[in-house]
Amino acid sequence: MIEDVATIDDLIKKVLSYNPDADIELLRKTYIFSSEAHGSQKRMAGSPYIEHPLAVASILADMKMDTTTIAAGLLHDTIEDTNATVKDIKALFGNEIAFLVNALTKLSKMEFMTKEEAQAENFRKMLLAMAEDVRVILIKFADRLHNMKTLEHLPEEKRKRIAAETLDIYAPIANRLGIGWLKIEFEDLSFKFLMPEVYEEIVKKIAKRKEEQEVYLRDVVKEMEARLKEENIAGEASHRIKHSYGIYQKMQKQGITFEQIHDVLGIRIITDTKANCYAIMGLIHSLWTPVPGRFKDFIGVPKSNMYQSLHTTVIGPKGERVEFQIRTDEMHRIAEKGIASHWRYKERGMLTEKDSRYVTWLRDLVQSQKELSNARDFLEEVKGAVVPDVVYVFTPRGDIKELPSGSTPVDFAYSIHTDVGHKCVSAKVDGRIVPLRYQLKNGDAVEIITSPAHKPSRDWLQFVVTQRAKARIKQWINTEERMQGVELGIKLLESELKKHDMSNALMKSDEILQAAKSLGVSSLEELFVSVGFGKISPHQVVNKLRPEKPAEEVALKPIKPSAEQKGISIKGIDDILYHTAKCCYPVPGDSLVGFITRGKGVTIHNKKCHNLERLAVDNARLVDVEWRQDGDTRYPARLLVESVDKPGVLANLSALVSADDVNISQLQAISTPDQKAQITFIVEVKDKKQLAAIIQKIASMDGVLRVKR
Ligand code: MN
Repeated sequence: MIEDVATIDDLIKKVLSYNPDADIELLRKTYIFSSEAHGSQKRMAGSPYIEHPLAVASILADMKMDTTTIAAGLLHDTIEDTNATVKDIKALFGNEIAFLVNALTKLSKMEFMTKEEAQAENFRKMLLAMAEDVRVILIKFADRLHNMKTLEHLPEEKRKRIAAETLDIYAPIANRLGIGWLKIEFEDLSFKFLMPEVYEEIVKKIAKRKEEQEVYLRDVVKEMEARLKEENIAGEASHRIKHSYGIYQKMQKQGITFEQIHDVLGIRIITDTKANCYAIMGLIHSLWTPVPGRFKDFIGVPKSNMYQSLHTTVIGPKGERVEFQIRTDEMHRIAEKGIASHWRYKERGMLTEKDSRYVTWLRDLVQSQKELSNARDFLEEVKGAVVPDVVYVFTPRGDIKELPSGSTPVDFAYSIHTDVGHKCVSAKVDGRIVPLRYQLKNGDAVEIITSPAHKPSRDWLQFVVTQRAKARIKQWINTEERMQGVELGIKLLESELKKHDMSNALMKSDEILQAAKSLGVSSLEELFVSVGFGKISPHQVVNKLRPEKPAEEVALKPIKPSAEQKGISIKGIDDILYHTAKCCYPVPGDSLVGFITRGKGVTIHNKKCHNLERLAVDNARLVDVEWRQDGDTRYPARLLVESVDKPGVLANLSALVSADDVNISQLQAISTPDQKAQITFIVEVKDKKQLAAIIQKIASMDGVLRVKR
């Protein structure tokens, strides 16, 4: 596909061959500008620098790009590496070329980054550039391809880094844009530099396999063509060889050896119409027995990068397996060139209707980038979207849905509608109930069961794979946490007002809005959230409301216990959302402190908890909490027992504890090298008194060395 050119005249000849009206003057002028700008610069190999932009332009001409793009290819390194400026280029060659060269300059800055976050940034820049004008990416691809072809001149470390980046970023994007030949070039070149020995070995084996099978396949092709002629079906058959990295991937994925791969060589038949593709397949299946499970109809269901073809494997003559690919010439063109296939030199840079099919995923991504603030999240999303490993599943109405592989019923539900996702409680696949974390398989018929009262769960984030589902769930959780923050904020403020004998009516007054503003928040809701999330203390707000009279401790009004709320209250507030801390397991009788979390209510700690020292740094977030006696509730408490390591201690211990009508909910024992045992267990007790009694008993047990909470 790629032919090197040595001079600008060769390049012009090549361009004229597909575009007789090309602006030759423009190409000459940009070439002269570029060679003068690069002057005596040399490439690593020692050759004049201008060879590189010329080669890049030549690759673009092989892709039959418009003259603007080729001119930009000639100029692509001038802003970056020479004294030339965007202004110069704009003045000499116009806005369009200046835009392309400038965009490329911005992209090229990314080549020396290695960290994951930097990689995410690279991806992001690429995608943004691509969304603006796909030609930027095509020039960048040509640039990278030439650099990869001349990579041996670089030091090994740099070579490996560039090869890895090409494999991780460039190849998947080329694939997603449907440019099959480029994806293959990127993969094989990267493979060669990343794993030279493995690469060499596979290349050698491919050559050997080709030698062994060539005669055989030629016979099959001959027979095929004869049959096509008989049936009067247009069609040309040829050999196809799997590329080396494709073979390596298959070996890795399926854990097999080269010898076990049957489709290293195959036959590709190119015909004129879709109907003939199916006719030819029928013919092949009538001649030879198809291998079950190997037939794939990518014409009926094209891949997400528009790839279309029929694939089938049959037991050919002499009992050998032969893989066939059948497609029309149009499908073949698209498989090879993708987004660049219908790119006519007449067309300008904007995306046509057809192109937009390649880039809807891109728009989704650029959109999601606004929702995903963290670079790592973004990188994950992008990788998910760019690597088109997909499963095809059916809706109850029989429509096909394409989802990334690993998708679950929850992903499916969100792909239908946000509400279906939020309310999904379970799912059926082919009529049978499956867990929500079930991984969908090709051909599954999926039915989602919803319930109006159901809410999304944070746990779903552990297994959903689509960006859409993740974003919607996160969004829901944020809203929910915010609502809880508002609620808690209001309660904390009302309690503080009560404490100072101030009217509850202040909650809706102008004064409180003024107070909010002077604390740097613009609305009441924002104020409540800030208090609820512990960013502003209720005390600060009340102080703003009555600056003349500093707050003083006022005796608490008696708390009216509410039926639903058990056990704990923040002074003066009913119905708070709380949970006891897993670091100190407070039980009734312990003094308590509450810590206001961001959006998950209040965590209750024992006042003696060692974590409080750290939490107390954020003083505004600590609140007074107290126990409310309510009879029967049991609370978990953790006990650590150190004993001699001898049989029976554990059994005696649990017998002793349970005899007191105390439940043990968890128990863990480990032996230490010095013949001791450390036993950790969680008991459920009424209060501190009961716990103290248990500790007393355990401590006096034979063999026990120490007991503590
Ligand atoms: Mn370059």
